[in-house]
Amino acid sequence: MRKIYILGTGGTMAGWAPNPNEPGVYQAAQLGIQGLWEECISPLDAADPVHNAQICTEQVAQIDSKDMSLDVWKALLRRVHECLMQPDVAGVVVAHGSDTAEETAFMLHHALSQQDQPILIKPVVLTCAMRPANVPAADGPQNLKDAVRVALDPQATGVLLVCAGDVHGARAVQKVQATALNPFSSGIAGPLARVQSAPNERPHDGEVYVTWLKSPAGFIPTQRAPQTRRRPIQTLWEAPEWPRVEIVWSHALASGWALQALLNAEVSAPPPKRLGSPKLLGLVVAGTGNCTVHESLEPFLQQAAQMGVKVVRTTRCLQGGVQKDETPSTSRYQGLSPFKARIALMIDLLISYDDLNLT
Ligand code: ASP
Repeated sequence: MRKIYILGTGGTMAGWAPNPNEPGVYQAAQLGIQGLWEECISPLDAADPVHNAQICTEQVAQIDSKDMSLDVWKALLRRVHECLMQPDVAGVVVAHGSDTAEETAFMLHHALSQQDQPILIKPVVLTCAMRPANVPAADGPQNLKDAVRVALDPQATGVLLVCAGDVHGARAVQKVQATALNPFSSGIAGPLARVQSAPNERPHDGEVYVTWLKSPAGFIPTQRAPQTRRRPIQTLWEAPEWPRVEIVWSHALASGWALQALLNAEVSAPPPKRLGSPKLLGLVVAGTGNCTVHESLEPFLQQAAQMGVKVVRTTRCLQGGVQKDETPSTSRYQGLSPFKARIALMIDLLISYDDLNLT
């Protein structure tokens, strides 16, 4: 029997609306993952493949994902890693809020690709909901069941995100709509797969329930040079803090004031401890167009580089990400949104021994 872990972290899927007729007024992260899963399976057909799996639920956190913290990320990463390392585990599902699901998905993807053992051969499937659990037509139960079905699918591999019947890869997926039932897009890349949703036509065979449009195997990172020396993955959950990396934006009439203030703070008073790792180690620029930056920011970016701060240039455009024709060193972040490039830089700064040599 294949074993799947469902790790709960809260979100709208676990949300509760005081008045079910007002689904927009609710508190996220109120219900436990075991109860949510029990609600899902009670009406399931006995022939459904989900019944032939051993499902273990675990509450790793109970938060609104807009408040995602390093402590939750560390606990989640450690637990996902431990589950995947168990030989009898086929995959892990993470129930998450939609707001930062793409960041957690990418964090897991980038962190778990750092170790030599190809741990991401097994799938890690994030899912979420846009309506709280107790309102009519809540979407959480369907999404959670779909995520388990994807995790059980023999072709599933790598870190995936399932919502409203679409299966996305962790690198491309972004929340692009604030309120829609299907708020995610993988842009021109499109989803990797679709979960068939017509209940009457639904086959009871897990192997054909998910229709793959692309092989997810191609999205498991392979670019890491074998000789690269890295600290063990455990460093990521044992470190009290991750390197501080800030995002700065380029836009019309940019003055550079915010960036200058950031750099000035480095040489004067360090920020209070509660704001995380005090020393600024990286900057991600959310540039315009093809990763271009307003001329008023350039002197400060050079100053940052001279101070030893690693600078990565990305684009604020939804498509494109860091471009290939940037310096070779930044191509390691090619295609990433500013938010994901920031996560990659934090992880790389923490566990990489090699000189990142960015500009
Ligand atoms: N604010 C909620 C969260 O991200 C939204 C959601 O779950 O969709 O946890």
